[in-house]
Amino acid sequence: MKNNIDLRSDTVTQPSPGMMEAIMNAKVGDDVYKEDPSVNELEKYVADFFGMDEALYFPTGSMANQAAIKLHTQPAEQLICDHYGHVYNYEGGGVSFNSGVSCKLIEGFRGKINATQVEAAINPPDFYHSPKTSLVCLENTTNKGGGACYELSEIKAIREVCNRHNLGLHLDGARIANALVYKKQDPKDFGQLFDTITICLSKGLGAPMGTVLAGNKKHMQNAMRVRKVLGGGMRQVGFMAAAGLYGLKHQMKNLETDHLKAKEIEKTLNQLDFISKVDKVETNIVIFYLKDNKQENKFMKYLQDHAIQISQMGEGKLRVVTHLDYTHEMHNRFLDCLSKFN
Ligand SMILES: *Cc1c(COP(=O)(O)O)cnc(C)c1O
Repeated sequence: MKNNIDLRSDTVTQPSPGMMEAIMNAKVGDDVYKEDPSVNELEKYVADFFGMDEALYFPTGSMANQAAIKLHTQPAEQLICDHYGHVYNYEGGGVSFNSGVSCKLIEGFRGKINATQVEAAINPPDFYHSPKTSLVCLENTTNKGGGACYELSEIKAIREVCNRHNLGLHLDGARIANALVYKKQDPKDFGQLFDTITICLSKGLGAPMGTVLAGNKKHMQNAMRVRKVLGGGMRQVGFMAAAGLYGLKHQMKNLETDHLKAKEIEKTLNQLDFISKVDKVETNIVIFYLKDNKQENKFMKYLQDHAIQISQMGEGKLRVVTHLDYTHEMHNRFLDCLSKFN
């Protein structure tokens, strides 16, 4: 029996031996009292990584994003994001449930929006009939946009719009580590441009759980309270924080390998007759389309018969995500399998 090849997401990884050791050796305490040395160390590390004042450990990326939105907004206000945005599509409607906030959606390019679009989406502050615009949320890399990354100059232009209109700027950086590696950017530049940033430890970095929210004092004042309200105050969670810190320190460099494999998958797909289009690959996500939509079930069944799992994203969108546990042997088997479909 061949190993299953799971390409549905980069969240499916198992802790590596080094990470297991970090978990086993972690010193822990009660984090609700801020007495867990491993959590404190991780938070300090992430704050320094972005050059920001403070950071706070959350169980999930959704909770960290939701807390950030709560910190920036009041009920009845509005945030601006791309129509592909995770905060809008994949957090269970939490924006309205947790913060009483609505989303003004922009149709950007591959999940990325620009300064002109942002400025046009801001409601006039004195026109009390419309919700007050108070926050802009960007995603980098974009998930539904197929792992696309922003240039710093694009973000700078959006920052200027936010400054002019007194808006907060939050980064959903679930896969910011992928962007940093791909674009060779400095995390401190992101720390300067954003008010708050989330970074996921359980995606490409390979930890079992956890996301850290980083921000400056002014925005983080209520972060502990909001996390408590959302049910995210945890006790001896340093075991998991140690896994996250290990991922940041030792497994971030592996992302380059993930990106290389994704690029090779793109190349193979582009040579196949039954594929109509592949979104240009930048990081570890490959989004592609079949020529004949009606073939989708047959294609999925074919992959399943070969012990391969990928994601269907609706409207003919198929998604492959490379990760730490996707070995060279699996990679060759997957490419070979793709070439033989008819
Ligand atoms: C995965 C992800 C998150 C967080 O998801 P959780 O499953 O709640 O950890 C947030 N934003 C983006 C873009 C993601 O891909």
